[in-house]
Order: sequence, then structure tokens, then C-alpha cells
Amino acid sequence: MKINTTCVQGGYTPGNGEPRQIPIVQSTTFKYSTSEDMGKLFDLEASGYFYTRLQNPTNDYVAAKIAELEGGTAAMLTSSGQAANFYALFNICGCGDHIVSSSTIYGGTYNLISVTMKRMGIDVTFVSPDATEEELNAAFKPNTKAVFGETIANPALTVLDIEKFAGCAHAHGVPLIVDNTFATPINCRPFEWGADIVTHSTTKYMDGHGAAVGGAIVDSGNFDWMAHADKFPGLCTPDESYHGITYTERFGNAGAFITKCTSQLMRDLGAIQSPQNAYILNLGLESLHVRMKRHCENGLAIAEFLDAHPKVSYVNYCSLPGDKYYELATKYLPNGSCGVVSFGLKGGRKAAETFMKNLKIAAIETHVADARTCCLNPASSTHRQMNDEQLKEAGVPAELVRMSCGIEDKEDLISDIAQALDKC
Ligand SMILES: *Cc1c(COP(=O)(O)O)cnc(C)c1O
Repeated sequence: MKINTTCVQGGYTPGNGEPRQIPIVQSTTFKYSTSEDMGKLFDLEASGYFYTRLQNPTNDYVAAKIAELEGGTAAMLTSSGQAANFYALFNICGCGDHIVSSSTIYGGTYNLISVTMKRMGIDVTFVSPDATEEELNAAFKPNTKAVFGETIANPALTVLDIEKFAGCAHAHGVPLIVDNTFATPINCRPFEWGADIVTHSTTKYMDGHGAAVGGAIVDSGNFDWMAHADKFPGLCTPDESYHGITYTERFGNAGAFITKCTSQLMRDLGAIQSPQNAYILNLGLESLHVRMKRHCENGLAIAEFLDAHPKVSYVNYCSLPGDKYYELATKYLPNGSCGVVSFGLKGGRKAAETFMKNLKIAAIETHVADARTCCLNPASSTHRQMNDEQLKEAGVPAELVRMSCGIEDKEDLISDIAQALDKC
């Protein structure tokens, strides 16, 4: 099946007389006739359901669709994108380990890695997404267990050179984990470029309607854990908390990562997505391919309009010729990138505030990647506590406006932006 068909039909094939739409299995628990039957599930000898914290049929249909979209072997849903990134990293990193991460990642993930995971004894070295191979190699330590980056970074809009990062990760015997939230599998499938694990905040384009917070983790099945067994004892030696199972032996490279993540991390930490939210997510996935095309068309049209406007000092949008990341976007995102554009106004912070106040269609929100256009001036909202100097250092100068282009008519969006710019 082509990806457009997978968006609509992937993950769930009803039999005769079964519901056409995926059923919402609103049940915490599942019934068995004998203790023996249930025992087999606990031993992971048979597959089936016993408690929704670990697995639920609705979630599994949707996870299977996301695995198909990314071209992976297994996937799981989590309660949020934050939980997805934490689980993906914590599944293979523990106290005393080290992560190499791109520095231009989502603020929430930056805090997760640099503050909360640090408190768990996991160290990090941040590298520029533009780092040379030499600079990347210098960031690795003997205890490095993973490399992390975002296909298109939120909100910096840098593009990750996935092939280069994967090459360096593999040369050091560790996997590359890529957060593919902004590109979505419609525009980039990181596994095709060597990434090993993909994560998503499904809250963004996958849901696409600002309706349900969620996350997903997908395994490519390509990383050979056993070849680096000394680095990944959690996957390659018996799990005493799970009847002495060795995940790689029992489930192979295709299933070990997600099985361990479900049966260990979900069991102990419990950041499960509700079946109701998984159902809503699936409605979003059914039109992901149609919406992404429109998000990108609108994003490019608005980037071009802004780029030519005399009151605009610069535009960041990787699909715009002349952008610093245009070449990488041509390679990794040939059919479009995303709907998020950022730009600066010559009139500085004051002009940004005036501009946003006068918008009629675009709403001011901290959200992105929604069907409705929205925008944010980080300096007067999320980064309000910083002075102008600090804002510049953080890559969000005072005049920067981040605009997430929705799927409305682009002519309406452009005339709204034009009238608001006239008032600056
Ligand atoms: C929003 C976002 C997250 C966090 O996801 P939540 O669903 O809000 O927890 C992680 N990564 C990226 C790239 C994001 O945009």
C-alpha cells in the first residue's frame, strides 16, 4: 500500500460483520476462563490483553498504523510526546550513561534531558545540528548509549542531517533516535536514512485538530542490539523483573525494544494513552496525508509572501530557496516540510506585538501544527522572563514570530497577515 492508503486503512482490517471504524475498547481489564490462560500472557508466551495500562486493542490498532506509516516493525502509544521521548531514551539509558543530543530540540525535551534525566544520573552532551562529523565524533564517550535529534526542530526549524547523525551513532555502536513530529512520515521517514527509533508528539500534526495530547514510539527493527550487548544489558541479558526473559532472544531485533518498553516501562511508569484519545488520534491519521499537503502549501505561500515584504527582516522556512537548511530539506523533505514558519519584523518586539494583536484569523496560542492557523511571539509569552540578550542566545530574538499555518485558504491567511503588517 502507498502511504496515502495506509493513513486511511492501515493498522485495522475488520472481519465480516465487524465495526468499520476501530472500536474504542473502554475497559481497564480483560476476562479469562483459566488462570493458566492468563499465566501465559504474563510470561509473554502468548499475546493478548489483560490490563489497559500495558496494552489495549484500540491503542494497538493505532500504533500498528503508525508503525506502517514509518516503515517500522513495532510501535506503541504513550500519553504524550514527552512520555514518548522519555521512554525511548530511558529504555536503553540508565544511571551512569550518557546521551549525545542535537542542541536545537523542543524546549520540553531539552529540559527533560538536561534537568530531569540528569537528576537520574544520565549525562548529556549537546551538539549543534550543523556539527561536522569530527565535532560529532568528539561528543561520544565510552558510556554513550544513544544519539537524539529532531527531523525539523521545534521551534528553531533546523533540519537534521539524519544520514550523518546515524552514521556517527552506528560507528559508536549506538542507535539514533529521531523525533519526527514536525515532518510526520508523510514528508520524511527517518528509517530510510538510517535512524533506528522514531518518536512523535501525536498532539501535533498526527492528531492535527488540537483535540488530544499523545505520543508514539516506533522501532525500525534494524539496530543489532546483540552486536553491542555490553552496552545494552537491559535488552540483551535476562530481565529478573520479567521471569528472566531476555528480550532480544525472545523477540529478536524487530520486537525487543518495544516489548521491553511496554512490559517494563509502561508497567512501572504507566504513561498510557487512553483508548478514547487513541480513537481521536486515528481520526486525525486518516486525513494526515491530505492535511500535510495543505499545511506545506500554505506554509510555503506565507513564507514567500513574508520574504518579499519590506517590513520583514528575515524568514526561517527550510522549504524556501535561500534558507540555511534548503539543501538538507531538498534531500530529506523533497515533498514539503511542515506548516511552521518563523520570521522577524524590522520594528522589533513592539512591531511583533502590534502585528499579532491585529491578526483576525490567526489566533495567539502556544500550540502548533493544528488545522487552525496560530502564532506566538516567544519573547512576550513562553520566554517572557528573558532579557533581549538572553533571547538572542536562546535563538528566539525579541522580534521573532512563530506562525503555524493551518489548512484554511491561503489567500485569506495572506490578506490577514498583510492587513496586520500594515498596522505595524
Ligand atoms: C510538542 C512536542 C513535544 C512534546 O509533546 P507533548 O505531546 O506536548 O508532550 C516533543 N517534541 C516535539 C518536536 C514537539 O513539538
